[in-house]
Amino acid sequence: MFTPITGRTAIVTGATKGIGKGIAQVLSGAGANVVVSGRDAQTGAAAAEELSGLAGAVRYVQADVAREADCERLAAAAVEQFGSIDIVCANAGMFPEVPLEQLTAAQIDEIFAVNVRGAMLTVRACLPQLEASGRGRVILTSSITGPITGYPGWSHYGATKAAMLGFMRSAAMELAPKGITVNAILPGNIATGGLDEMGADYLASMIDSIPQRRLGDVADIGHAALFLAADEAAYVTGATIVVDGGQVLTESAGAMAAM
Ligand code: NAP
Repeated sequence: MFTPITGRTAIVTGATKGIGKGIAQVLSGAGANVVVSGRDAQTGAAAAEELSGLAGAVRYVQADVAREADCERLAAAAVEQFGSIDIVCANAGMFPEVPLEQLTAAQIDEIFAVNVRGAMLTVRACLPQLEASGRGRVILTSSITGPITGYPGWSHYGATKAAMLGFMRSAAMELAPKGITVNAILPGNIATGGLDEMGADYLASMIDSIPQRRLGDVADIGHAALFLAADEAAYVTGATIVVDGGQVLTESAGAMAAM
């Protein structure tokens, strides 16, 4: 039995939908007070309403992680609402498909501003509170795409998700003396609105390449985050947890057919 995280404060960026909302639901269900954030206020208010009534309180704070001032304001709002920050889940991300030959400099800048710079600025804004916590937790949502696998059309995205791990490793060392751990979850294909936009053919081909023959659920990522947030994960830092139903094990279509 893990030590309860009741009363701790978590910030989850990109938590108005999808994986972030799943992380928020699991952490709040385990007793943490959770600040969910994202850009669209209407979606954010709806998410906070949907998650109300769990063990911990849930509040929505509007923030665009591409804006440095928003990251600072998000951290301040969490302290104002709940008095501390113990857990930061830097989850907000975008994943547009663009073939390399059509990729513009502006598109590269935009995806790095959200997926990498946004995560770094979110974490930096929370550092004083994470240190004061004495058991600060930084949990990054990376991906299997980039750190482990590739997919045509997502070279810029894969670059950002691998870059998050570069950030994680040095930050984990820098923050270890402050009692803060920094880890990353590498989701495979998780059923979210964002993934649905890829279309039915994409989803069907993905399921065909996953040994467990299903897409992941957002709660699958939430439970990995809950482990990393627990006191019992205090000695885990600079580590990655792949949550993908075995997808990265697949060497070829033939390997799947042989199952
Ligand atoms: P999603 O359903 O599209 O949700 C994305 C969330 O991020 C929304 O709450 C969105 O709200 C928010 N967001 C987007 N841009 C933002 C910005 N600039 N500032 C603040 N919030 C922003 O996506 P998802 O599938 O849950 O993906 C979440 C994370 O998991 C991403 O980092 C993604 O790369 C990663 N991931 C997903 C999968 C998958 O299979 N789904 C696999 C591997 C990794 P607003 O639009 O209102 O801002």
